[in-house]
Amino acid sequence: MTLQRIGTINTIAVEENKDIPPRKDIIQRRVEEIKRERLALQEGSIPDPREEHHVKFEMGGQVQYRLYPAGSYYCSQCKDLEKLYYREEDQILSRPCSCIQERQQLGRQRGWEKKLSSARLRRKFRKRTFANFETAPGNRIAYEAARDYAENFASYRQMGRSLIFLGDVGRGKTHLAAAILQEVLRQGYDGIFVVVIELLNEIRDSYERSNKRERDLLQVVKETDLLVLDDLAAAERFTEWERGKLYEIINARYEDENPIIITTNRTITWIEERLGEKVVGRLLEMSGDILPLDGEDYREKIAAEMRKGRKIEAFPLEGAR
Ligand SMILES: [Zn+2]
Repeated sequence: MTLQRIGTINTIAVEENKDIPPRKDIIQRRVEEIKRERLALQEGSIPDPREEHHVKFEMGGQVQYRLYPAGSYYCSQCKDLEKLYYREEDQILSRPCSCIQERQQLGRQRGWEKKLSSARLRRKFRKRTFANFETAPGNRIAYEAARDYAENFASYRQMGRSLIFLGDVGRGKTHLAAAILQEVLRQGYDGIFVVVIELLNEIRDSYERSNKRERDLLQVVKETDLLVLDDLAAAERFTEWERGKLYEIINARYEDENPIIITTNRTITWIEERLGEKVVGRLLEMSGDILPLDGEDYREKIAAEMRKGRKIEAFPLEGAR
């Protein structure tokens, strides 16, 4: 009798002895043995032979293995074997354990959170989605337009079409902007959400401290698929430098046909007075739609803008507040 290792499978083949079952049967028997052992382990009728074991996680697209010591498990049901064993007639069968999906879900969740963080969407804004936006007669059209924009972002992106949400504090402008951004990120685009004053401060600091990483921020806001400029013109006044920087960003996006979503509680005229005609001119050229989230007041103001000869397609409101 000669013993021989066959292929890469560490098993034993026996030549010239017809009484010994062929290799296939040996493997089959070993498999049955393993199944019995695993079933016994899951039933708790034998102690866990492993001193420790690893469990695989994919966190945000990266594979990680976590070490679990003897007797401790991520999933107490399958004891981290990823399959559940059961007896049917005289056979031992198995089915995948639900913990696999659970871990995948967890990994996707982490990946998603990472994505939201790199889009700079703060935690409180992450809860603002289309699903929990409360529509009212004064904001329904803005809501519908926001949904349409998000759902058809691919075409709007192509057209370089921007949106401006106008309305008083608490009307849901930021909510809609955050909801659009999240939907766009879900579609695989990248985007960034910045509060205008904070963005300008950060860029200025980065120049003063000659911080390269922060200066890259300027590049990102120019180039990302979707830029949300929250609370444009919140300040009472802007310095020459701030106006220049804002124009630089908006103009860069205008030239590359990269869309912007703007939220503001100021009127177009107010913005023009503080930020200058150049900034507003670019924004109006980029924005097919100005979406008021308020009553008659804004409709009147937009009508006035249109009378001044600007091509603004304004959504009428479904009735006053
Ligand atoms: Zn399990």
